[in-house]
Amino acid sequence: MPPISPSVPARASRRDRALRAAAAQGLLDPAQSPVAAFVDLAGIGETARALRAAWPPELDVLHAFAAKANPLVPVLAALRGHGLGCEVSSPGELAQARAAGFTPERLVLDSPVKTRAELAAALADGIAVNIDNFEELARVDALVAGGSAAARVGVRLNPQVGLGSIEAMSTAGRTTKFGVALDDPGNRERLLAAYLDRPWLRWVHVHVGSQGVPLELNAAGVGAAVAFAREVNRHRPGQVVGIDVGGGLPVDVAHGPDTADAAESPTFADHVAVLRACVPDLFDGSFRIVTEYGRSVMARNGFLAARVEYTKTSGGRRIALTHAGAQVAARTAYAPESWPLRVLAYDADGRPSAARPEPQDVAGPCCFSGDLLAKERLLPRLAEGDLVVVPDTGAYYFSAPYHYNSLPMPPVYGFETADDAADEGTVRFTLLRAAETVDEVVARSGGALLESS
Ligand SMILES: *Cc1c(COP(=O)(O)O)cnc(C)c1O
Repeated sequence: MPPISPSVPARASRRDRALRAAAAQGLLDPAQSPVAAFVDLAGIGETARALRAAWPPELDVLHAFAAKANPLVPVLAALRGHGLGCEVSSPGELAQARAAGFTPERLVLDSPVKTRAELAAALADGIAVNIDNFEELARVDALVAGGSAAARVGVRLNPQVGLGSIEAMSTAGRTTKFGVALDDPGNRERLLAAYLDRPWLRWVHVHVGSQGVPLELNAAGVGAAVAFAREVNRHRPGQVVGIDVGGGLPVDVAHGPDTADAAESPTFADHVAVLRACVPDLFDGSFRIVTEYGRSVMARNGFLAARVEYTKTSGGRRIALTHAGAQVAARTAYAPESWPLRVLAYDADGRPSAARPEPQDVAGPCCFSGDLLAKERLLPRLAEGDLVVVPDTGAYYFSAPYHYNSLPMPPVYGFETADDAADEGTVRFTLLRAAETVDEVVARSGGALLESS
């Protein structure tokens, strides 16, 4: 089957139409709303279809979207509508997924630090649970003895296959904090014995890392999980019924798929092809499969837009001061080498800027000098009132805001562009997250306690 990849030029043109319409409709009003985020609802559908088409239809696969990549409840609900499940790693993400309408059989709980109460509730509800370590396994023993025998429970392995290019995002190093380190002396035997003692342990989980992990390294981790599952099943045929292969398909957001220096991001079909080549047993029909893709589902389906408030020159450097910085792009501000982003320049009405290009810093509103979206970037010369767009920020950016300087969370709008000729140019916006008000900022920083005392 040829890979079905979402149409990239169409996506860039939807983005540009949405920006024009947002400017015209006052969603980026310089006084009221100088920064906002946008989610391409049609793009979500395209991506979900590409994901589902990439995996063989004859296999039993649950694509559990990793909620941390974009936990906005309406986004999760849209993904549910497109046939995905949901992977959650905290009580908050679990509550968000439940609010989005996911039923327990479509949910997977993975957090590395779970309280006894969280474990008990998840097992009682029939949510799949992946156990991180032997101490957690002992807690689950007591709960399973209490009657959750139908539970879908697995153990997360650390296959210790090595690190990708971003150490903080790699989860299968020798000393990584996640899972049971399979190659540590005695651990493999201990884990095998643990499975054979517990017929209810029927899943194996692995997640090699997020961004910067090559497909072959990802596949090596999945291969280790399948090999371990087969080892259990050699001793007790049929015990392990499923492999949760995790997520971690990288997305190159530093380069535009719609620009000359095209991005080299693997597709879902590329991932499946590498898994097929490296881990053929995964596809032989003996196992159910859970995937946990996050970034690759949402990154290209969202963008940020912010007004330029002022411009200036400092030590010969041209600087544009905008309303988007670390509060919506924390990783890029703190680790710019690992998390480069593109920045696009538009005029005040949201049309691509025609100004002469020159190197500029694009700075945010936070009070530390690293609060930059881009440094010495060649861009059309920005001026007060212009708009900057940060494409491909649908995962891990505006949906994971940072409260530094008490900056409020910006609004997030979903958009749909009409494609029929009669409606040419019409863009419909749906609010996905309301702008946080200054009163709400005060309330969440203890102000409400003072008022009520
Ligand atoms: C973060 C995470 C994912 C998703 O990773 P992506 O790079 O966003 O695909 C999946 N599974 C687990 C356990 C994770 O921690």
